[in-house]
Amino acid sequence: MARLRVFVNERPVDVARGATVRDAVAALDHGLADLLATAAAYVTDGVGRQVDARDPVGEAGGVFRVVVTARRAPAISKEALRRWPKAELHVHLDGSLRPATMLELAREQHVRLPADTPEGLTLALSVQGVHSLEEYLTKYQLTLAVMQTAAALERIAYEFVVDLAAEQVRYVEVRYSPLLHRPALTLTQAIEAPLRGIERAVRETGTRVGLIVCGIRTLPPAMSLELAQVAVGYRSAGVVGFDLAGAEHGHPAEDHRAAFALAVQHGLACTCHAGEGDGPASIHQALQSCGAQRIGHGTRLGEDPALLEYVVAQRIPLEMCLTSNLHTHAVPSLTTHPFRRYLEQGVVVTLNTDGRLVDGVTLTDEYHLAHTALGLGKDELVRVVLNACESAFLPEFERVALVARIQSELEKIA
Ligand SMILES: [Zn+2]
Repeated sequence: MARLRVFVNERPVDVARGATVRDAVAALDHGLADLLATAAAYVTDGVGRQVDARDPVGEAGGVFRVVVTARRAPAISKEALRRWPKAELHVHLDGSLRPATMLELAREQHVRLPADTPEGLTLALSVQGVHSLEEYLTKYQLTLAVMQTAAALERIAYEFVVDLAAEQVRYVEVRYSPLLHRPALTLTQAIEAPLRGIERAVRETGTRVGLIVCGIRTLPPAMSLELAQVAVGYRSAGVVGFDLAGAEHGHPAEDHRAAFALAVQHGLACTCHAGEGDGPASIHQALQSCGAQRIGHGTRLGEDPALLEYVVAQRIPLEMCLTSNLHTHAVPSLTTHPFRRYLEQGVVVTLNTDGRLVDGVTLTDEYHLAHTALGLGKDELVRVVLNACESAFLPEFERVALVARIQSELEKIA
């Protein structure tokens, strides 16, 4: 059969009579032809008019040019991201129970829950559709209802670490407030129980774990101080940090500064939820009055450019939570989330779940979301993983070792 010679990107290509423009492009370069199918490229004729790639090439001597509009790197699948080694710095134990465990504990303890199947419970606890941070926090009352025994706390902490290890989380700092387990448990009992569960899971999985205790903004500052006093006694037993959580607006962190000061004095690292339910002044207070070394969320940091500059210069890490911010209306939509902007401006940003159960996400999901919704590429995602490792509340030599280990693991995968 007679063949026609046409030109694609100045190169001669021979195609069968009746072949399409796309066939001619494919004869030169299959990769280019594939781009036409994804709208990442289009074809023009000799004078630059766009032609339909499905049209026949027409007469011999036809000239075509392929214009590539976007050379997209291949997407990273969620499965691939699940295999990436990761680290998480901001996740609440009382927001991360297995639904089946929660049902079992409720039956044992005769606690009434709004559903009696894991699916129903997941739905009832889901914070999708809540209207504010304050409403979001009410979901935690349900989980806390079954966490009032030492055995339950131990089991939940154990299962939590096992679940994170299964998605290749190599280092995690998990937080909760021992204050919310009184009067059923003393502060000592409420700290020792999860430490036991963690210790067992660490032995089995190899995942490193640090425990962060949280004062609560809406409780009296004297209670935060009391908690800090007890927590510092467990510094060598696995408690690595002190945090302040709870409704942010109208409950300033500086009221709790004595607790932060005591924690710092005894060598505990400090972080503080701020800039989530309130503006940048709240972040400023957490840093200046409380000595926080990291900020929980920090979503609204960008509203104060001078503070953002300070956070960049001081390399203060932000523990950011994309899905949770959507649920609490800290941002109106994912596409407007400042995570990517902060990363590009040099802020040490990290990705976290906040609550695996209540927010209905895994750490893998959050990385996948940053990839698909915010457009972070492989190098940027690797940077975020390393940011988390570099921001760990670990002694210097252990932190350096963690970073080196994760970096070499990532290099093997990439
Ligand atoms: Zn949080």
